[in-house]
Amino acid sequence: MNTQNIKAFGTTAPDADLKELRIDRRMALSNDVEIDILYCGVCHSDLHTARNDWGGSKYPVVPGHEIIGRVVAVGEQVSKFKVGDLVGVGCMVDACKTCESCQKNLEQYCQNGFTGTYNAPDKHLGGHTFGGYSEKIVVDQDFVLRIPENLNTAAVAPLLCAGITTWSPLRRWNVQKGSKVAVIGLGGLGHMAIKLAKGLGAEVTLFSRSISKIVDAKRLGADHVVISTNEEEMKAVKSKFELIIDTVPYQHDINPYMQTVAIDGTLVLVGFIGEFDENIVSTRPLINQRRAVAGSLIGGIVETQEMLDFCGEHNIVSDIELINMQDINQAYERMLKSDVKYRFVIDMKSLKN
Ligand SMILES: [Zn+2]
Ligand SMILES: [Zn+2]
Repeated sequence: MNTQNIKAFGTTAPDADLKELRIDRRMALSNDVEIDILYCGVCHSDLHTARNDWGGSKYPVVPGHEIIGRVVAVGEQVSKFKVGDLVGVGCMVDACKTCESCQKNLEQYCQNGFTGTYNAPDKHLGGHTFGGYSEKIVVDQDFVLRIPENLNTAAVAPLLCAGITTWSPLRRWNVQKGSKVAVIGLGGLGHMAIKLAKGLGAEVTLFSRSISKIVDAKRLGADHVVISTNEEEMKAVKSKFELIIDTVPYQHDINPYMQTVAIDGTLVLVGFIGEFDENIVSTRPLINQRRAVAGSLIGGIVETQEMLDFCGEHNIVSDIELINMQDINQAYERMLKSDVKYRFVIDMKSLKN
């Protein structure tokens, strides 16, 4: 297969810094779109994969699945995009397209496993896929998104993972005007959950352990902030929320929050927190008020496009800090300390220089 050798940024070992390296991309096949990458958001998954925190990382790891760019070439079968279009690529670059999930536009739950944008088996070149910390990417048109031209292009990038991860549960659980929604945690995912829920017309509450988050949460659109360590405040919101989106990415006790879920309400986990372990979910709040605990993973391509169009109409983007590619190792250290408001985005010009 014809390939092109391009510049990328990645790591060759779990304990090595990311640095410039070169990778091969396939030349655009008949159904492919070749994209010149302008911006790439920095997700916690990037860091965890680079450092093999979840096991199974294949090296070199070239992370990045919040990709924005311009189409520079298309295959002869491509009908959805043309050269010059502003496009995006999120967490998936392929799926089987035939299983029940794929047929229902739920490629993220593909029964045969979707192809992740990085560190997944590459169907075309063998080896594994490389993500958006690179000059270019070549992707099947069915996994490419149209990006609204009216938004701040760099700040759109995080919508492709953080945005869709929170949008999908808001839609699945039918959040609309007046819905009472709570968000646990104010990071990359949490700040998008607030903006998107507010955009849908919900009454939005942030749960936080820190009073230092109150001002920012309200600026982002939260109507209320409940300090989760304050028993009085927690009691005051007993059985209030139709939907709680829990974005906290480490092990924690969800039981105090379950008391605040309304009858027939649901708490949805969107962060990988491993086992509940000693913090087993108590069955009493579930049974007593027909509450549910659920999980949700990113979103399908159709749903991702719906979210991007919604954000275009409602002027919703992520709050970002733009960095150069060469600053990525330092950015990872700051992410570990939650020292970012609220997402790093890499200006890919810095890789091309
Ligand atoms: Zn991600
Ligand atoms: Zn499938």
